[in-house]
Parts: sequence; C-alpha cells; structure tokens
Amino acid sequence: MSHVPAADRYDKLEYRRAGDSGLDLPPFSFGLWQKFGTDYPYDTQREIILHAFDLGITHFDNADRYGPPHRAAQRVFGRVLAQDLAAHRDELILSTKAGNPIGPSPYHKGSSRKSLLTSLDNSLRDLGTDHVDIFYSHRYDPTTPLEETAGALASAVQQGKALYIGISNYPPEPAAEIAGLLRRAGVALLVHQPRYSLFDRRPEHDGLLDLAARHGFGLVVYSPLAQGLLTDKYLNGIPTGARAQNSTFLKPDVIDDTYRRRATALDKIAAERGQSLAQLALQWVLRQPQVTSALIGASSTWQLDHNVKALDFPPFTADELARIDEHGVH
Ligand code: NDP
Repeated sequence: MSHVPAADRYDKLEYRRAGDSGLDLPPFSFGLWQKFGTDYPYDTQREIILHAFDLGITHFDNADRYGPPHRAAQRVFGRVLAQDLAAHRDELILSTKAGNPIGPSPYHKGSSRKSLLTSLDNSLRDLGTDHVDIFYSHRYDPTTPLEETAGALASAVQQGKALYIGISNYPPEPAAEIAGLLRRAGVALLVHQPRYSLFDRRPEHDGLLDLAARHGFGLVVYSPLAQGLLTDKYLNGIPTGARAQNSTFLKPDVIDDTYRRRATALDKIAAERGQSLAQLALQWVLRQPQVTSALIGASSTWQLDHNVKALDFPPFTADELARIDEHGVH
C-alpha cells in the first residue's frame, strides 16, 4: 500500500543549494550503508526510510557496495520505493555510487568505463528506477585515466541514467582535475562526498573546502557523527546492538580513555547549550557554508527525530567554537 507522507514534511527543514547548481538538498541526507542489508529487519528499515521522508529528508544515499551482502541495501530501498513511495519518485533525490570493490571480477572494482556504467545499470535494476538523481564515482582510482572516468560519468548523464554527477573520497588535486574535465564535457560536478566531522577535520586542512567554493560544487559530508562516536552512547561503555559492537568499520578498541575524555568534554559543552553531543556535532559540520548536507545514518526513528533537531539551536559563539576546537581531532 502506498505511504501517505506527512502533509507538513516540507515545513520542517531549510533546504540548501548544492554549490552553484540549481538543486536544493535537505540539510540532512540519509545513508543506507549500515544495517540496511539482510542483517536488520526489513520492517524496521522500511519504517526508518519512510520516517526520514516524513521529516523532509528527500535525499537517500546508496551504493552498489552497501549491504551486507553487496547490493542488498539498494534492493531494500527498491522494495520500499515500489511498495510505498512510487507516487513520490519525483520528490526523491536518489544517489548511488560505483568504483569501490564489490567482487573479485576486474569489472567489479575501479573506475573504468566498464565498471562504472555496468554497476550503474545493475543499481538501476536493484533500485527499480530508470535513473538516479546523483551518480558518484565512489573513490579516486589512480590506475584509470581521469578522462575515462569523467567520460563514463558524463555518459551516464547523456544517457538519461543520472541527472547529476558526484565524486567521493577524491583528494583535492584529482577532484579539481575531474571537475574541469566534467565541465568541458558539459556536465558540472554537483557534489563531492568526503568524510567530515569533529573527529576528522581533513577537508579544512587539505584545501577541499576552498576548492568547493572555487569550483562551485557542494559538499555532502558523511559520518558527521563519526559513526556514533559523536553521540553520548559510548560514554559509559558499548550498548547492546550499537555499531561498535558488531561492525567491521567501527572497532570497539577506538573507545578508549582518550576518546572518552574528548567525547565527555564535548558532551559538557553541548549540555551547556541545552543540546546533545549528536546535535552539537551535526550543527558543527553544517556551520560551513560549503557543506550542503550532513549525510547521516540511523538505526531507529528516535535517532532521526533527535538528530534533525540539531538546527533548532542558536549558532555557536566564537568562544564555544574555540572550546570545541580543543577537543576535536585536527
Ligand atoms: P553517522 O556518523 O551519522 O553515524 C550514524 C550511526 O550513529 C547510526 O547508524 C547509529 O548507529 C548512530 N547514531 C545516530 N544517531 C544517534 C543518536 N542520536 N544517538 C546514538 N547513536 C546514534 O553516519 P554513518 O557513518 O552511518 O554514514 C552515513 C552515510 O554516509 C552512510 O549511510 C553512507 O550513505 C555514507 N557514507 C559514505 C562513504 C563513502 O565512502 N562515500 C563512507 C561511509 C559512509 P547504531 O545505532 O547502529 O550504533
């Protein structure tokens, strides 16, 4: 049965323009990287996706790799799209990515024309849609000429299989180069997707923020909560079911005394502002004008409700930013 979305879903968030494009994205985008494979109940996954849409989150981020197993997260989203959101496809920004390894075949990795365009066709099949809104090169592949990668991405747009192009995890130099190649092919680079949080400030130091402003692309920043480390959940141990308990991407040994000292200090600043650590961390990445959207994950609707309130608080003062700086990881 088709989902009847919340009537006030567009009154809740202030949408932000992606770079110099004409596309607005929600300040929070939702990613299906973890707990959206066959490892979590479908009914919960469906409930979270529909709740995100009801909150005004129009942008759903996926990749051929997301599961487990690889490709499963796109099938989950495809099922929800077909059963609940088909009537709202025109209100959705669906992203997918290719280029990270998904199997032993030489065509299941890298950023060759063959790998990227075959993966995109398979993703369209799994999502059950004839186009995605943003097609990403998932990471820079130094073994493939950038001209070939840019040509494949531009073809996806020319073939009507993608509306916009993004890149992810590209260091600034190849990012600038591919932005130029795409522009010459008549396809502007819409967004770059780097990791950015209080615990990983690399985009500030490696020039990516400046590059985004110069080339007119937006930033969709992933893991702004450092996979949950920038919440209060690990301050007193590892709760049952939390990502650090059962994910190969967040090992329990990162939750050590240094982590606890930093997180506790940040939690205290957040409490003084009347917000939670998660809300402080999200508001902090979104303070940058180049950041179009914070790309979050969630394993419950409660987390979503809690996190989207991050923008309901007054801007940081210079003194607060300086105190936050002391405890982030530079
Ligand atoms: P976050 O840093 O937002 O971490 C999200 C996780 O933190 C949740 O799944 C949940 O984990 C926990 N959490 C969230 N809110 C709260 C809360 N209020 N209180 C307590 N715990 C909370 O982002 P992700 O690391 O999940 O990444 C988000 C998306 O970014 C991915 O889904 C993917 O789309 C994209 N991404 C892209 C990459 C790339 O290479 N381009 C790489 C990685 C991610 P739990 O409850 O399970 O502990």
